Amino acid sequence: MDRRQGLLEAIRRGADILRQGGHALDAVIAAVMVLEDDPLFNAGYGSVLSVNGTVEMDAGVMAAEQIDGNSEPPKSSRRLTDLDVAGAYTRAGGVVMITRVRNPILLARIVMERTPHVLMGGSGAEAIARREGIRLCRPGDLISERARQRWLAREREAVRNAAEANGTVGAVALDRHGNLASATSTGGMGGKLPGRIGDSAILGAGFFANGLGAASSTGTGEAILRMAPCREAVRLIERREPARAAAQVIHDLREATDGEAGLIAIDWRGRIGFAHNAAAMEIAMLETTGSVKHLAVRPL
Ligand code: ASP
Repeated sequence: MDRRQGLLEAIRRGADILRQGGHALDAVIAAVMVLEDDPLFNAGYGSVLSVNGTVEMDAGVMAAEQIDGNSEPPKSSRRLTDLDVAGAYTRAGGVVMITRVRNPILLARIVMERTPHVLMGGSGAEAIARREGIRLCRPGDLISERARQRWLAREREAVRNAAEANGTVGAVALDRHGNLASATSTGGMGGKLPGRIGDSAILGAGFFANGLGAASSTGTGEAILRMAPCREAVRLIERREPARAAAQVIHDLREATDGEAGLIAIDWRGRIGFAHNAAAMEIAMLETTGSVKHLAVRPL
């Protein structure tokens, strides 16, 4: 199984946007969409299946935008967002239990930008997709052959490979204007009960961004929801490097819950951090020097 190619392609798409002076929000959305379209990842097409053999996806996005002293906050920020500690305006959107949209992260962005809400679910969220011109697919169109085989294997109680079961996708970015963004998308946990909602679309748990940093997480949603590691990592970034902040929250999560989790983070200076305690986590990154790297991260 080679996820490396998909990760490098995601970085390429995000990097093109950032190099042309684009927004961190556009970069994380573009990167996550590449991975949602790649059947090797547990998001969008190729998502893991519930115990009933259905796909139900969650996704969330948050942007922190720098406003210079003279300009107005972004229009949609006025109702919904706060000026955060670092003088940036923050906005967020999430969707849960999505069954008919190929790129749930796009719908999360629409919730953020074109509705007065932050989190929407199921048929209501899909109605917004229809209204905004996103084509709805049949739920079965999202099931890849790989996901179907894994579901059948699980049904037969075959040995479960933990690394195979994972594959939630996330991206964090800082652009040259100082804007930060985070996006996370998932099919959830394989074999979940229908209707189960994980952490990935929940602000602070699966994703978070403010003017100081951005974070995205993966792992056992039931543990992550209790620890809100993305909010905590960005809080720690006020005083520590992202690498140490990520290691600290993953360590704390393991101590408190015994859950598996991984987290990526970036700060306002472009410093990158990541940590996990799960069987496997792969990341790719574009550093401020311009170099691109792919890593299979060692567990803590
Ligand atoms: N965090 C996701 C969820 O619980 C799953 C994962 O990241 O593997 O829905």
